[in-house]
Amino acid sequence: MESDGQAFADDGSGVTGGVGDGCNEESRKLLNTKVKEETFNWRINFSTIPENNLSNTEVQDAFQAAHTNWTHLQNPCGLSDTFGKSVSFAGGSDANSGVQNTPGVGDICNHDLYDFISLNSFGALDNYAVTCINGKLDQGDNIVQSADVKYRQSTNYTIRPGDPDCNNAVDIESLATHEFGHVWGLDDLIQGHSPALTMTTGGGYRIRCNSALSSLAKGDVLGIKAKY
Ligand SMILES: [Zn+2]
Repeated sequence: MESDGQAFADDGSGVTGGVGDGCNEESRKLLNTKVKEETFNWRINFSTIPENNLSNTEVQDAFQAAHTNWTHLQNPCGLSDTFGKSVSFAGGSDANSGVQNTPGVGDICNHDLYDFISLNSFGALDNYAVTCINGKLDQGDNIVQSADVKYRQSTNYTIRPGDPDCNNAVDIESLATHEFGHVWGLDDLIQGHSPALTMTTGGGYRIRCNSALSSLAKGDVLGIKAKY
């Protein structure tokens, strides 16, 4: 059993201005993991959702929309719209994701579960969320056995990033779309790549009151198509 924590970093830097559609941006980086099953089942620990923020249904719908962004390869570029995978919500769970407060050592992410908790800073960066992949080698492929995602509980999230009163909140669908990219086997692109690519890190501003990353750019789609 191996675990491979991945993080979407918010260091508050990066260029400002429009994200664009990313249809000329082909950058992608593949993890060595891939999902073998046709349908990926996922759960939420509803009891961990931040109070006074989003309802259980709003979070569930945002996560489902984020999954659909991948399973339907939602993109503005006219590229292929499927790669033969689907997802299914398997219900609530009282379990906690295997991601530790300080991700990395000791993670056993075997629940296919998304939850919220305080995430300590690690490295030089603060992070919104961490995806942990439990992979197993099978005939040369590192097959995803399960994957958990832990979201920072103290973040101010929104499902309406275009609202005038968004107040710098993080679009949870955009954030989840990035994290689910890791579940399907895509790695982070470091800063310097197009901010329109869902898998680019280091630009938290892109998902604050901005839904641009809730659809994929060209490199994101090419990465998935290369893997499946
Ligand atoms: Zn990431």
